[in-house]
Amino acid sequence: MTKRVLEVSDLKKHFPIRGGLLGGTVGYVYAVDGVSFHIDQGETLSLVGESGCGKSTVGKSVLRLFPLTSGQVVLNGKRIDDMSTGTLRPLRRQIQVVFQDPFSSLNPRLRVREILAEPIRNFGLANSEAEIDEKVGQLMDKVRLPRDAVNRWPHEFSGGQRQRICIARALAAEPDIIVCDEAVSALDVSVKAQIVNLLQDLQAELGLAMLFISHDLAIVEHMTHRVAVMYLGQIVEVADRKQLFGAPRHPYTEALLSAVPVPMPGAARERIVLQGDVPSPIKPPPGCRFHTRCPYAFDRCRKEVPRLQDNGAGHQAACHLHDLPAEQNPLLNKAPPTAFRAA
Ligand code: SF4
Repeated sequence: MTKRVLEVSDLKKHFPIRGGLLGGTVGYVYAVDGVSFHIDQGETLSLVGESGCGKSTVGKSVLRLFPLTSGQVVLNGKRIDDMSTGTLRPLRRQIQVVFQDPFSSLNPRLRVREILAEPIRNFGLANSEAEIDEKVGQLMDKVRLPRDAVNRWPHEFSGGQRQRICIARALAAEPDIIVCDEAVSALDVSVKAQIVNLLQDLQAELGLAMLFISHDLAIVEHMTHRVAVMYLGQIVEVADRKQLFGAPRHPYTEALLSAVPVPMPGAARERIVLQGDVPSPIKPPPGCRFHTRCPYAFDRCRKEVPRLQDNGAGHQAACHLHDLPAEQNPLLNKAPPTAFRAA
């Protein structure tokens, strides 16, 4: 049976807004507002959406980089959202992170050997300095950097090489899951592809689970197993890769996919241009949060919150259109986006 590595239930993170003469709480930023998902061993779940939709806050919440407003995070069967810092410390080994910026993620005052040795030492994963050296060498092999580069400083590496060091540092803790928070967004196109291929190879080799947070749908389509689409702090659609890219079941996903550059010259695709801006997460619209921009919105959308419901084979979408008869549902009567016709 596949092992469930991460289970998140009804996660909420509301940041207080301070103001007034006394500096009290005058409101909240509803950054994440009721998000649930799971990731199994060896699986990649991608969290996608426009910037500001709350996807990075979800990543930081599951890493317990700040306290949650409410909800549950279960890591390898243990609830970690309400654990004290001391109890959580040894479990931190199981969940590691690779951030977007490889330039600020590495301590410039440490050589690569020390950067990689630190987690091995901190989590007690080696019994001697010789064993640490051997493990550091193996990590360099894994991320395809020469072993003798361990004596160099971070500034001596290119952006792509630094991101390889960040991945090696995450692997040094021997985790079960890695959170990649826009981990390839700051890299050049060719380097991006190399790092994505490396992550895929490592996942296959080590059976890692991965939460891949990205706004880049072309990359996500290339490397994920399942996708969760976020809009204004909530997940609006979840499906496996082929279902989501081949037949989106939420108007927001449909619009996002239509904006991805078509890789085949001459391929026609209808571009859906959303009207208006993303509403403020301080005062999300009532009913469906997407109704202010949705080309299909109708009366019910402005009053009633749509719930994520299964449209078959685990393909979930939060949209009232799926309560209409199939022939009246515009999402079911369209050809899939040209660039993503599922193979
Ligand atoms: Fe659009 Fe209504 Fe569906 Fe929301 S519930 S996505 S507004 S059709």
